[in-house]
Formats: sequence, C-alpha cells, structure tokens
Amino acid sequence: MLVTIPDRRNNSYSRVVVEIADTCPVCGGPRGPLSAGQCREGDIVSVWHNECGHKDLYDDVIREAEGRASAYGYAALVDAAVARGADLTLSASGKIFCHDEEGTHQMSAAWLLGWLRWGDAIADAYDALTDDERAQLEHAERLAEDLDVTVVPAVGVDGVVRWHSDYFSSTGSGYSIVELETEMLSAICELQQVA
Ligand SMILES: [Zn+2]
Repeated sequence: MLVTIPDRRNNSYSRVVVEIADTCPVCGGPRGPLSAGQCREGDIVSVWHNECGHKDLYDDVIREAEGRASAYGYAALVDAAVARGADLTLSASGKIFCHDEEGTHQMSAAWLLGWLRWGDAIADAYDALTDDERAQLEHAERLAEDLDVTVVPAVGVDGVVRWHSDYFSSTGSGYSIVELETEMLSAICELQQVA
C-alpha cells in the first residue's frame, strides 16, 4: 500500500510517498485502516493503527520501503520515471540523482517507487470517476484555465479522489471537487474585485 510519511532525511520538512506491504511484518495481519493525520511539522500524513496491535515505527517503515524499492531494481525505476517525464540519472555506484531548477539532488529509490505507484493510483482513480465527477472535473479545469493554474486529480490517503492545484494546495492538502470549485469561484470574485 502507498503511505505518505514525513521525509526526515537531510532535516527536510517535506513528505514522501512510499510503498509498503499491506500486511503487518510481525504477524501477517492486515495493516491499517489508513486515515489522514498530522505529523509534528503540521503536514497531513498517513496514519494507521494495525488491528493486531503491532506498531509500525517510522524507521522500520522507511527500511521496508527502501527494501521494496531496491527489489524492483534501481535502473528499472529510473527508466520508468524518465519515461514519465522525470529528469533523473543513475550513477555507476547506483545512486539516483534528480535534476530540477534547484539543482541536482540525490534521491532515494523508495521515494521514486512511491512516486511511480502514486501515478498509477491517480490514473486508476481517474479511470474510476463517474460521469458526474468527470463533468465536475472538466468544469474545474476550465475554471483553472481562466485562473491560469494547474489542477490535477489525486487520491487521498483515505482513498478519496481530490483535486490539487498549484494555486490552492500550497500546503499540500487536497480539495474535493466541490470545495475546489467554491475556492476557485471565490478567488475569481476576489480577483475581479481587485481588478
Ligand atoms: Zn501484527
């Protein structure tokens, strides 16, 4: 399953989506259910309490995610990410580097696998939309075009489809279609008042 956890490498305050097993590594019982909670930095992250009572500690989750990612093969991960438009390279020593406008950074394979799986989850969620939801999304996209912002469908840790935009989700929190429309319409009104 995909979980969003704080990314505490390099003292960063970002979050990372990683893939871990659906089952408890101690007893094999089901993990979860997943819900959304706040980490100590205040960001929304995945929270789960296993019904079996075994606790998943942060360091163990990271280690498990790294193990799964390396099992896929780093070169294959980089190839798949590059095919989806990421600007990545793999060094001879097996380190993954990401190149963006802020420079070149080393990236963990666990992060990359989570990113790829997240993309799959979004695509699945998009495919599962009802006609009504699609119509609402198209409407939201037209509004977004007017505001010159990008709206992307995403799946929340609670499994709910939400829409992120670079305008409304700077904190990374999701909006439902209706919330997004309400926010956009009020933003348009404000912009018109200012103009
Ligand atoms: Zn257990």
